[in-house]
Amino acid sequence: VPELPEVETIRRDLHRELADRRIQTVVAAAGRSIRRHPDAGGFAAALVGTTVTAVDRRGKYLVVRLHGADDRVQVSGTTLLVIHLGMSGQLLLTAAGEAPQVHTHVILGFGPELELRFVDPRTFGEMFVSASRGASAGEPPCELAHLGPDPLADVRSAAQLGRLLHARTTKLKPLLMDQCFLAGIGNLYADEILFAARLRYDRSAATLTTAEIRRLYAAITGILETAIAHRGSSLADEQYRDVFGAVGDFQGRHLVYDRAGRPCTRCRRTIIRVKTGGRSSYLCPYCQA
Ligand SMILES: [Zn+2]
Repeated sequence: VPELPEVETIRRDLHRELADRRIQTVVAAAGRSIRRHPDAGGFAAALVGTTVTAVDRRGKYLVVRLHGADDRVQVSGTTLLVIHLGMSGQLLLTAAGEAPQVHTHVILGFGPELELRFVDPRTFGEMFVSASRGASAGEPPCELAHLGPDPLADVRSAAQLGRLLHARTTKLKPLLMDQCFLAGIGNLYADEILFAARLRYDRSAATLTTAEIRRLYAAITGILETAIAHRGSSLADEQYRDVFGAVGDFQGRHLVYDRAGRPCTRCRRTIIRVKTGGRSSYLCPYCQA
């Protein structure tokens, strides 16, 4: 499941490859991948002729900012193409005309040599054109207004994180994964962050000391930034691919995730897996308190 580091890796590459390029054709299959649109024709019509100005990210969502195709659209502001990869979504840049692989739901054509393809076997992901036209630069589309602050872009100090955590009695791991609390962290990076911060998944957020909040802040920024530097994590299923089809490089650096029974890199005792609410958490029960 792509989380912030994987989505940010894709964002950076898409921004570099697509900025100032014009969407010339859109091929979309009606269905779950564009479920917010009543039909594929309306989805395509909103995009054809627009030019990419920037690719932004809000949590696990990509927001492609598009300049209007004609004066009417231009006057009314920016068109936003929002993309969520769900469980298994991939965005692949390919040469135009290559036979699409199975489960390709949307193809954006940028001219004779370049296409962006949305491939999603499990169809939990989606693409939609936001109706909130007129949003100024940097403003999220109204559909994403529920998302909490971005842990890298918006949370700038341990003190700020402490204020967010203050008075929250929720357990730490579900809170970190709550997209309304912080947007972008999922199951894998929550486990790695909590190990780095030496905190248990089931600590009540309200009980954290100032020193523990400082450790947590350092762990959030450190783990996410390092994972981005290594272009994200591809697990055994290799479902996560970057826009060039390559796997990430952070999976070999996980210290607890999917490492039950192996020695803790800090104390050499055994990493365990616990199941809560249908999810697995991996931790060292000695190092994390
Ligand atoms: Zn340990």
